[in-house]
Amino acid sequence: MTPPIPMPQILSLTQNHLDRMRAAAVAAYPAECCGLLVGVLETKAQWRVTHVVPTYNLRAEERNDRFAIDPVTHLALRRCLRGRPEHMIGHYHSHPNGQAYPSAKDLAMGFEPELFWVIVAVNGKRHAGATEAYRLDGKAVHSVSIQIRIATSELQNRLLHSHARQKVG
Ligand SMILES: [Zn+2]
Repeated sequence: MTPPIPMPQILSLTQNHLDRMRAAAVAAYPAECCGLLVGVLETKAQWRVTHVVPTYNLRAEERNDRFAIDPVTHLALRRCLRGRPEHMIGHYHSHPNGQAYPSAKDLAMGFEPELFWVIVAVNGKRHAGATEAYRLDGKAVHSVSIQIRIATSELQNRLLHSHARQKVG
């Protein structure tokens, strides 16, 4: 028997990662946006996103409820990650006028249970709403918690500011 693939329950990302996915979702409206997520395994329960990579949606012109990640970008990214500790851990797309929940089409496409799916809902007023993460195994939808972490640069800024305040005070 092959050992089971670790199935992390938490996806850790920065506010900036989240903002970029949500901005892409608004920019693509009324079509769907899509992109890839690169990250590292932090603990058995948690993957940490290190890069959000926007990709061209090959099906954006065709229908408003479809996405297909550009295979050229996908392959280039895989090549770029070879020999590095980071992996392609999932992707994101938007649901214009929809819910941040996998559609029947998504579920039919979701046959790689180790991949994270991030879905951003965009309403008719072009506002990004709920943003949720899942894993799909072709049969069922598994919810994943999104955890917002403080970016290292942000943390450094905060520390610098607190030092500056201490000096002034
Ligand atoms: Zn979808």
